[in-house]
Amino acid sequence: MKTKIEAPIEKNEQRQFEITDLSYDGLGVTKIDHYPIFVSDALPGEIVEAVVTKVGQKYGFAKTKKILKKSADRVTVENRQYTQTGIAPLQHLAYPAQLQFKQKQVENVFQKAQLAINVLPTLGMSDPTHYRNKAQIPVRNLNGQATVGFFRKRSHQLVPMTDFFIQDPEIDKAIAALQSIIRRLAIEPYDEIRHTGVLRNIMVRRGYYSHELMLVLVTRSTKLASAKTLIAMIQSEIPEVTSVIQNINPSKGNAILGKTQKVLWGKPVLRDELLGLQFDISPLSFYQVNPQQTQVLYQKAIDVADLQGTETVIDAYSGIGTIGLSMAKHVKAVKGIEVVEDAVKDARHNAKLNGITNAEFTLGKAETVMLTWQAEGLQADVVVVDPPRKGLAPEFIEAVGKVAPEKVVYISCNPATLARDLTLFGAQGYTAKETQPVDMFPMTTHVESVTLLTK
Ligand code: SAH
Repeated sequence: MKTKIEAPIEKNEQRQFEITDLSYDGLGVTKIDHYPIFVSDALPGEIVEAVVTKVGQKYGFAKTKKILKKSADRVTVENRQYTQTGIAPLQHLAYPAQLQFKQKQVENVFQKAQLAINVLPTLGMSDPTHYRNKAQIPVRNLNGQATVGFFRKRSHQLVPMTDFFIQDPEIDKAIAALQSIIRRLAIEPYDEIRHTGVLRNIMVRRGYYSHELMLVLVTRSTKLASAKTLIAMIQSEIPEVTSVIQNINPSKGNAILGKTQKVLWGKPVLRDELLGLQFDISPLSFYQVNPQQTQVLYQKAIDVADLQGTETVIDAYSGIGTIGLSMAKHVKAVKGIEVVEDAVKDARHNAKLNGITNAEFTLGKAETVMLTWQAEGLQADVVVVDPPRKGLAPEFIEAVGKVAPEKVVYISCNPATLARDLTLFGAQGYTAKETQPVDMFPMTTHVESVTLLTK
């Protein structure tokens, strides 16, 4: 039997709401007798007329129909579709207010976790649009034509588009050109219901400084008819292209990239530059998507570490080596750890590419390698971590406690796991005074930050 939901509102009811807050995922928040309702397209200070779309035991959802009182922070949206697809869920909020929202978000999680850490104003961009150096775009059949676009939020319904607002415009141009080529060659798009068709996704990366462009065509099977013609057309119609890669993803799941790939034409890697160093990036390796702000973020990490030239630095979660190699000239030695094999190869290659001889990279899980190093009696002065959204493993933090570096620099892309991990570091005797949010993902709700911990 269904338990009866006791809520102060009913589904499909339309009424006025006064918005008092913005949720971590960018929805307006209102409360009726402590019952929160999350309202789409509504900002703090606004009064909106909204229809209730969902009523749960603990909270509900509503959709704005009309804004009765507007926030001074509301700006005209570029295109509704950027909100519908989740590309730019904060596009209706003025940029300075977005930066404040991100600072406040970190403050909120710290407060909940009872961490007394000062959160600095978010470092933003002068132009918060067209910043992404990477695109991952689905290709589907729409009205009988291969079509690129983005999925509507929480669905696999394709919204056709070729202007993605937060991506490098040259990437958008390449995607539009590729769509035209695919149509002319009648390359069959993937059908995910029947698991048939050829082309599933297009991934594009462009070097911010190098202007090199890598196209990755993700296909369901190895077969790609008319590959030769396809490459010839790409070369003539997208002149910046320096690599065309075929990635094969035979799975039925949602993973975009498969494990195997081959170079159809050009170089196997994309070259780019960060803080004056050259980096070669394999298609499967992680690389920060906002090159301008990445330099701000890394420089901040270098600055807070206050390096003297004598340190041994561990760069856990090192990716293609970007942070460790940027620190190398300021320290005695860098030891990186990374779990993706291609990324470790890239990191070693990138050290050589830049003539860096004091950095080495180990393949493995940070938590396992750290425990081994600790057992071997490794001495380290600084540990830099830059983990994925799920944060650090507890055993990693314990191992760091035993290695006992003087400083830990924590780069985080998720304030919730950052707060959890800072509490665990507290148990190991490490505390932080302040956190610096850096806006790596303008127009979205994502929050990146740098925190220095000392013993
Ligand atoms: N510091 C790099 C990469 C950060 S992204 C940069 O800024 O570019 C996080 C990286 O951690 C990814 O490369 C991912 O493959 C790696 N990773 C994820 N889980 C890991 C683990 N348990 N141990 C080591 N590396 C891990």
